[in-house]
Amino acid sequence: MPDFFIGGEWVGAAGGGTREIRCPADGTLVTTVDEGGRADAEAAIAAARAAFDSGPWPHTPAAERGDVLLRAADLLVERKAEFARAESLDTGKRLVESEIDMDDIAACFRYFGKLAAMNAGRVVDSGDPNAISRVVHEPVGVCGLITPWNYPLLQTAWKVAPALAAGNTFVLKPSELTPSTAILLMRLLTDAGVPAGAANLVLGPGADAGAPLAEHPDVDLVSFTGGLVTGRTIAAAAAATVKKVALELGGKNPNVVFADADFDTAADYAVTAIFLHSGQVCSAGSRLIVQREIHDEFVAEVVRRAERIRLGGPFDPDAEAGPLISAGHREKVEAYVAAALDEGARLLTGGRRPDDPRLANGFYYLPTVLDGVRGGDTAVREESFGPVLTVETFADEDEAVRIANDTHYGLAGAVFTDDASRAQRVAQRLRHGTIWINDFHPYLPQAEWGGFKQSGFGRELGPTGLAEYQETKHIYQNL
Ligand code: NAD
Repeated sequence: MPDFFIGGEWVGAAGGGTREIRCPADGTLVTTVDEGGRADAEAAIAAARAAFDSGPWPHTPAAERGDVLLRAADLLVERKAEFARAESLDTGKRLVESEIDMDDIAACFRYFGKLAAMNAGRVVDSGDPNAISRVVHEPVGVCGLITPWNYPLLQTAWKVAPALAAGNTFVLKPSELTPSTAILLMRLLTDAGVPAGAANLVLGPGADAGAPLAEHPDVDLVSFTGGLVTGRTIAAAAAATVKKVALELGGKNPNVVFADADFDTAADYAVTAIFLHSGQVCSAGSRLIVQREIHDEFVAEVVRRAERIRLGGPFDPDAEAGPLISAGHREKVEAYVAAALDEGARLLTGGRRPDDPRLANGFYYLPTVLDGVRGGDTAVREESFGPVLTVETFADEDEAVRIANDTHYGLAGAVFTDDASRAQRVAQRLRHGTIWINDFHPYLPQAEWGGFKQSGFGRELGPTGLAEYQETKHIYQNL
């Protein structure tokens, strides 16, 4: 069966291209999918345009659109095992993590399903008894949605659910490395009641199948999650047609640990903050910033825990972390560590591929800790997007805040302390879009997610996540 979903039909690539998807954990062939380019993206854009201009979805009452999203959430729960397995095979991610992702995805659809009808606009005081003034929300139009490989369906859901809730039509272009759950999602949305043409899918490399979504005049909004360099390219391309743009880019996320923090809790989170999904998380706590008096003991404990992490494939019940996504990505992480060592970092653990023959066919890399890095170093400035933790040390609160904010990124950060007022003070001074206190990684569909500085602009999730997909119109009537 062909893999592109365009105008409610399953079709293959115009040029007949295909791509083999192999599991990064062991190289086994997962599937072969159609792979397209510009012509396929343009066909999908035309279908989304027609469905927006004359299809039922933008005019379907918001409450009914919400019902469709709630049905989609129910179907996601029903089909969780199928989706989680497909996600793990494409990404190499542990099955248990994919299962959690699927629960979060269903929750996201449920949240926007409920929100859909609750954003009807408002009546404002016109100041004239003979005039009515209303502010209403309308869909933006055709949305181009471009997503990465690390949380393939979760990042997709954060865009698809609010785009549909607001009455838009869309073209989705997932990462070429992890297309399987996007294909499953198109079937699921159809079963939930999304009409033909409202949801469209093309697969292919970003520069071919993705670029038209940023460039084409018939696309009204482009929402992108991925790397900083690609984000800049997309923003520049979108400027030519002044489309709305939302960018969710990378992070170089500080994890600040004060000496008064609960030692075990902070050590636990410092490890999961960076080594969850082998560091391939935009909000990974890749910079440990620890108070001087506990530095030696704390870092030694983090290293001990990092060395205990068992690597393994998605279906290994004892695995605690999986492989990197590709050979190319592992080489990038290796180059990053080599550059850090050149700049004077001290390698405390990891820094190489594992010896274990069980892992020889996967793209594994050992959990790595680098101490002795300094503010200007590549290692604390650039995202490795791998299992690499750098350690910096601070003397007092002011210095902690200065180091934590000394990055061109601003996605997320954490503070560990037993002093509640200091926790709040520091949280307010950190220039990052999400701050965790005595925790790391939790997010909620009802709370906004997004970056300060070069981590992007626009917000996903929460009421603002819906507003991104809406135009606001003022209607003034002289009675
Ligand atoms: P990437 O930028 O290489 O690719 C992301 C998507 O963009 C893919 O679908 C790709 O095909 C497409 N693309 C590439 N070039 C394009 C172009 N010229 N025009 C249009 N589309 C193009 O990123 P990646 O390697 O897939 O993902 C990793 C990055 O994503 C990391 O930097 C990570 O921090 C970031 N990320 C951010 C968040 C967040 O919420 N802020 C979440 C997950 C990942």
